[in-house]
Amino acid sequence: MSILVVGSVAFDSVKTPFGEAKEILGGSASYFSISASFFSPVSLVAVVGQDFPQDHLDLFHKFAVDTRGLQKMDGKTFRWTGEYGFALNEAKTLETQLNVFESFQPEVPQGYRNCQYVFLGNIDPVLQRQVLAQVTQPKFVACDTMNYWIDSKPEELKKTLALVDILIINDAEARMLTGQPNITKAAKTICSWGPKILVVKKGEYGVAMYSHGSIFGAPAFPLEEVFDPTGAGDTFAGGFVGYLAKSGRLDNETLRKAVIYGSVMASFNVEDFSLNRMKHLKHSEIQQRFRQFKELTHFEHDHLL
Ligand code: AMP
Repeated sequence: MSILVVGSVAFDSVKTPFGEAKEILGGSASYFSISASFFSPVSLVAVVGQDFPQDHLDLFHKFAVDTRGLQKMDGKTFRWTGEYGFALNEAKTLETQLNVFESFQPEVPQGYRNCQYVFLGNIDPVLQRQVLAQVTQPKFVACDTMNYWIDSKPEELKKTLALVDILIINDAEARMLTGQPNITKAAKTICSWGPKILVVKKGEYGVAMYSHGSIFGAPAFPLEEVFDPTGAGDTFAGGFVGYLAKSGRLDNETLRKAVIYGSVMASFNVEDFSLNRMKHLKHSEIQQRFRQFKELTHFEHDHLL
């Protein structure tokens, strides 16, 4: 089943304790679409400026991402500059240049409007709703956001959340959004605003999912080298939503496997800058790491006590 994604396509400048890269391909929709394309076909709605090179477009096409909804406007592509400290657990935004996003009016091509799965990637919540309004009858809508929008457009964001089935955010964002330090309580509050399922990403500590009255926890894959965490959240979302769209189901068992596929995709992405690791990722590597996750989290019931 095909997934419609709207989000940012960006030039990122990133500094980590291990290196620095300038104006590399990034953006929530870029990471999401290439990650999700390993599972399901993806149709992209986004905007770039005249400075966006053909090479990057070719990369989307290599992964069969449909770019008919990617507008090229006069002006410069969205830019984000961020930095990570030694623990690599949280990006510090140094600069956000919205550029073409300031006047972007998303238009969902006719052929995408009956997509059953929608991912509202991290962009202005007003734009997220404009996209949703153009989709005929989605089976489910998943959504991401970040501190920038929680801070600048909290009311617009709440209006968007009222329309989504699944929210995927990190722990700091869940706290910021609700003003609640306890994540389990924050999850209850968020679910009372609309989303039936909440996935909270906790960086190297893994993920907690609140769904259908149950909680599922998964660790992050224990990598020895994390090079650049940028895009971990979006590649997670790509694997998660990609797998759900492929399976066509939303029961707890399927959701749990989707969390693991999301974690697998994120674990590959952080091994290099930009989408460099995803460019040569193989399906067999995804399956192998999925099996390693199973071993990592498996234990037998104990009858000793
Ligand atoms: P994450 O998966 O959370 O690490 O997301 C990283 C991506 O988010 C980067 O590639 C940025 O280009 C993008 N990004 C950062 N700030 C914003 C923003 N305010 N709106 C949309 N996308 C953003």
